[in-house]
Amino acid sequence: MRLVLLGAPGAGKGTLAKDLVNHLNIPHISTGDMFREAVAAGTELGRKVQSIIQSGALVPDEIVNQVVEERLKKDDCRSGFIFDGYPRTVPQAVTLDEILSKISAKLDAVISLEISEEVVVKRLTNRRVCPKCGRIYNMISMPPKNDELCDDCQVKVVVRDDDREEVVRRRYRLYHELTEPLVDYYRKKGILIQVNSEVDHQDLVKKVLDRLEKVRT
Ligand code: ADP
Ligand code: ZN
Repeated sequence: MRLVLLGAPGAGKGTLAKDLVNHLNIPHISTGDMFREAVAAGTELGRKVQSIIQSGALVPDEIVNQVVEERLKKDDCRSGFIFDGYPRTVPQAVTLDEILSKISAKLDAVISLEISEEVVVKRLTNRRVCPKCGRIYNMISMPPKNDELCDDCQVKVVVRDDDREEVVRRRYRLYHELTEPLVDYYRKKGILIQVNSEVDHQDLVKKVLDRLEKVRT
């Protein structure tokens, strides 16, 4: 299956993607993770995007599209993929359609996670991430078992630079202005699945899997 996850920052795209990967056996492609890895590795791409990401702004479309096109050439994408955080603008969505049509492929479904700004701010300022494995926690709803240590790595979990409140509000605003128009874009294509993401995470996963089951048949 070829899937896209849409939703405001903090809507739970990354967490949902990890659950879907386990059920569907397709790679999870997060452009945000790819950029953060590039920053950590100090590559040329990392140097270009570091300050942009820290400020909560969007990386220019040309850079994002190029990174994605390269990623889609890898063998593991033949069986499908789950995009998380891409496309984020209408030009990116148009480019994705073009990249896919070159290999005679198209998206099967786009899952849009609906959430309000206040819930986003509450979730993200309580979010922690393991600096080693990237596992995501929430100090209120999904804390690590042992104090502030990652369950898998025993490393202290940290707040992402861009999860500070003023940056979160800026990211939400950008989502509203630039990404939300994609909901209509994909609705018109007839592949949109809208779900309320202000619910218990396991219920959300179940609902999404039910809806995807109908797409497959
Ligand atoms: P979020 O929690 O906001 O969804 P991500 O991990 O997806 O965070 O992205 C982190 C940052 O990486 C974004 O704020 C942005 O600067 C950059 N980024 C990621 N994906 C894209 C994209 N498709 N287009 C532009 N910028 C992107
Ligand atoms: Zn870890």
